[in-house]
Amino acid sequence: MGFGLRKKALANIASRMSIEKGSGKEAPITQIYGEDVFNLKAMKDYLPKPVYKKLIATIKNGTSVDPQIADDVANAMKGWAINKGASHYTHWFQPLTGSTAEKHDSFIEPDYEGGVMMDFSGKSLIKGEPDASSFPSGGIRATFEARGYTAWDPTSPAFIKRSSTGAVLCIPTAFCSYRGEALDKKTPLLRSIQAISTQAKRVLACLGEDSEGRVVPTLGPEQEYFLVDRELYLARPDLVQTGRTLFGNVPPKNQQMEDHYFGAIKERILDFMTEVDETLWTLGIPAKTRHNEVAPAQFELAPIYEELNLAVDHNMIVMEVLRQTAHRHGLVCLLHEKPFAGVNGSGKHNNWSLVSPDGKNLLEPGNSPHDNAVFLTFLCAIIRAVDRHADILRASVAYAGNEHRLGANEAPPAIISIFLGDQLTDIIEQIEKGDAKSARSGGAMHIGVDALPELPRDATDRNRTSPFAFTGNKFEFRAAGSNQSCSGPNIVLNTIVAESLDEIATELEKCPAAKRLETLQKILQKIVKQHNRIIFNGDNYTAEWQKEAARRGLPNVKSTKESLKVLIASETAKLFDKYKVLSNVELHSRYEVYLESFTKTIIIEGKVALDIVKTIIVPTVIEQIRQLAGTLRELQDLKMKKGCSPIGAKLDKATGLFEEMSHSLEKLEKALSSHSTDKIIDEMSALRSSVDKLELEVDDSLWPLPKYSELLFIY
Ligand code: ADP
Ligand code: MG
Repeated sequence: MGFGLRKKALANIASRMSIEKGSGKEAPITQIYGEDVFNLKAMKDYLPKPVYKKLIATIKNGTSVDPQIADDVANAMKGWAINKGASHYTHWFQPLTGSTAEKHDSFIEPDYEGGVMMDFSGKSLIKGEPDASSFPSGGIRATFEARGYTAWDPTSPAFIKRSSTGAVLCIPTAFCSYRGEALDKKTPLLRSIQAISTQAKRVLACLGEDSEGRVVPTLGPEQEYFLVDRELYLARPDLVQTGRTLFGNVPPKNQQMEDHYFGAIKERILDFMTEVDETLWTLGIPAKTRHNEVAPAQFELAPIYEELNLAVDHNMIVMEVLRQTAHRHGLVCLLHEKPFAGVNGSGKHNNWSLVSPDGKNLLEPGNSPHDNAVFLTFLCAIIRAVDRHADILRASVAYAGNEHRLGANEAPPAIISIFLGDQLTDIIEQIEKGDAKSARSGGAMHIGVDALPELPRDATDRNRTSPFAFTGNKFEFRAAGSNQSCSGPNIVLNTIVAESLDEIATELEKCPAAKRLETLQKILQKIVKQHNRIIFNGDNYTAEWQKEAARRGLPNVKSTKESLKVLIASETAKLFDKYKVLSNVELHSRYEVYLESFTKTIIIEGKVALDIVKTIIVPTVIEQIRQLAGTLRELQDLKMKKGCSPIGAKLDKATGLFEEMSHSLEKLEKALSSHSTDKIIDEMSALRSSVDKLELEVDDSLWPLPKYSELLFIY
């Protein structure tokens, strides 16, 4: 490696011409949108009418597929996919690794006359049997029982994945063990959607709304990411191996000028973004907003929200498209939560709401007393759910990458709290005060009788520091990390809110219709009294909030390992079992998998740090010392006293830091053999500190690793 690679990368970037023009698609967006999706239009074109109708009913109601239509659907899908150039199909699923998985099978089937036919049966559409032995299962699957199966999810449409030479039909599926235990993230997500739908419908029915159809959660995930030049990336083994830099100093110019956020997008980046959007649009993914983020080299992509299950799948595709498109543009997309220490990290804002069967957003404050009753009921249900289960919500964003972000004064702290804004908080206080007798003028709110005062959606100073903020007509959970699947946080959110809604419905169903509003008033009042400690509208980054939260008894679990423990608590098992989202066995398996993934990540990072220092940094520093010592000796030989002293001081500093670094290196090596993640983390940070000091001392022409100033600013 040595300085050679860094220098070559910089020279190559300097001489690169901008990407050729005219690579963009010629066709209008309205025409390309969704062209690679087996969507309603494609189904209509390719399916016999009765089959189409049955399939639509399945998709709309989330019921299981009629096996009798499977052959027809498979045949239509095959015809469509082949017309799109596909040679293969795959069951596309989401194992507990947090990424997506695919195993391709071609459509070919020998005709036994020396040729082939293109074949795809209903059976192959509905069920696949990948060898599951190498996916993490946290002990669910014994090795002798390696098989798992994938099951078609018709609520998320099949799509075409393209490379420059071919195309594959991707069929979104759930992934289970042979006994039916979920080995993936989609299965519990679908179950949790069912749970919240059932409970929300009961509540709506009590409030006089019982239209046919389902209540579904909606999700709009805002995706943050970094882009670095591929050549510089390749000269950083830490980025290649771990997705983040394990060494490096923040450059003098970082984000303090605030000139990057929403700044003019550089041409090279814009070319990349244009291709990303086009690809997403052909896949029917409603990419809407793109902009520079706060940190240099950081960007954001936000789609228009969709039904939760689809939005989660789409976000998985967004992450993949970002990575692949970056590659084609000579860039690398870093989705890690904290690629650069001292520079803002990346999150994924999880905008979540519920939509009623007749298309009404249940978190939209209305202007009629009835709409308010609905809105305030769901609002209070969420307040109780988040307060009661803040620890599980926290655990849903606990993993190695996100640990660098949470609580680092750039992202929400590990303390979960809710931001409502002043107006809504005032209303909540009125509910707390209100009883059937008190008058509205006395500052009390009568559910179903009083109308809400107008809530100016954007007037409240939007609090960017809160982990769980009400933003006008939805909640935004901001603790999720940029690299994670949206499934985890939403499985938890759906389940805890389902429980809270269930309790409200159970109480309301017990009382006669005429008394319901009065009862509801009391229920909401009680919820607010018991759970308003979770509401905090102030600055979540301050030390005072840490103290105040402790006083309120809110959990503040900083470490991933600590946080994950709630997954195996008996209360958690009861909750998830009651709503048939995750069994005790499935929860334990997730705990095992996530803990192991944390440990493995830390050990890998420790080993990579050790390697880089031993084989790249140490030789560099030795070379520096050799040069300084040589110069010193020459000066001494020439009896140049004046020069000797600064050179001597420099040599002294370099050897001192070298000694410090060698000492840290030994300690990291020991920590690695102890397998203690806490020790590894501590020793890595000590080692980093001496390496980073050396980066500032060693001759720039000797330093082998591209510096932050290059990674973050050079395109
Ligand atoms: P910001 O939070 O940056 O101000 P927006 O308010 O425009 O941005 O929305 C952020 C995200 O929230 C977008 O993806 C948007 O589609 C999504 N969103 C808007 N309404 C809903 C909703 N009812 N349910 C879920 N997500 C929503
Ligand atoms: Mg936002």
